[in-house]
Amino acid sequence: MSNDLYEVLGVARDATPEEIKKAYRTLARRLHPDTSPDDPEAEARFKEVAQAYEVLSDPAARERYDRFGSADGFNFGDPFGGGAGGLGDLFDAFFGGAGPFGSGRSRGPSGPPRGPDLEVVATLEFTEAVFGTQHDVKVRTAVSCDVCDGIGAAPGTAPETCPDCGGSGEQRHVRQTMLGQVVSASVCRRCQGQGQIVADPCNECRGEGRKVIDKSYTVDVPAGVDTGSTLRLTGRGAVGPRGGRSGDLFVKIKVLPHERFQRHGYDLVEELPISMMQAAIGHHMQYETLDGAEDLVIPRGTQSGRVFRLRHRGVPHVEGRGRGDLLVRAVVMTPQNLSREEEDLLEKLAELRGETISRPDTGLISKIRSAFR
Ligand SMILES: [Zn+2]
Ligand SMILES: [Zn+2]
Repeated sequence: MSNDLYEVLGVARDATPEEIKKAYRTLARRLHPDTSPDDPEAEARFKEVAQAYEVLSDPAARERYDRFGSADGFNFGDPFGGGAGGLGDLFDAFFGGAGPFGSGRSRGPSGPPRGPDLEVVATLEFTEAVFGTQHDVKVRTAVSCDVCDGIGAAPGTAPETCPDCGGSGEQRHVRQTMLGQVVSASVCRRCQGQGQIVADPCNECRGEGRKVIDKSYTVDVPAGVDTGSTLRLTGRGAVGPRGGRSGDLFVKIKVLPHERFQRHGYDLVEELPISMMQAAIGHHMQYETLDGAEDLVIPRGTQSGRVFRLRHRGVPHVEGRGRGDLLVRAVVMTPQNLSREEEDLLEKLAELRGETISRPDTGLISKIRSAFR
């Protein structure tokens, strides 16, 4: 099995949308569960093919995949598959397979292009997200080649001015027309608009000026972030080729659930089970908030569903000051599995309050049930 979506579909990296569609149709027909039932391998392949097509048929998703090696962002997991492929594959996946110089050129010597942005997911414990934390993320990124100091030229040599364009990065074409001379310019093909070429490339990085490594960053996560928050670390993305600027690193936050509290914006909510007796008589308790234990008084006669608001014990606002509240919702639990003695006491209590209780006997319950069947 391959993790390269192009390989899964058996198409070239520069395949046209039509070619991708055709390859998908052919494979899907062959591997469809209806065609080969009881073949788990075909079924797995079919899923793989469908997933690959989903990404590669969507221009935006395909572009992302080309840049990050993953359709849903650049992940530190295993973006390029289980160690398969040499450095060549890695470079292709990493630098988009569009040649080492990327895209987005403008007129004039553009200089080395900026490196790609990277994206990584940081999974945080609930309390880390509430109070902020320092979190280490690992990314596969490109850094400057230390043999050539990032310029891409073999040690002792230097990039030269492009002889085709004289360093301007563009080629001018002069035409004589009826209206006089018309000058047009296009990007110099030899230097890709950079104005310089490397005649003697560095062996270590093959003239790229950068290499792919796994790198860790410690991210300062501010208090109050939630799933879906994204932090941007300017300049912490992959470095551009031959001394190009670095892209940015985007850290997407994912927060694990808490066993007691749920987040509603900046408020925290907990359902607190209390006994019928505590609800009726009242109860003074030590209630554990995220900031420690606090006094909580359940007043006598509390009904199920009543909410107690502990101010400023919620989540700090990500930007600016203040915190949300902690909302404690009382849930009155009806006692179950009563002993004979307990039942008699409750019956006595009902009597004192003038309530009539007519105990259903088991036979009656089943009779009523069958009547509704
Ligand atoms: Zn180098
Ligand atoms: Zn040139």
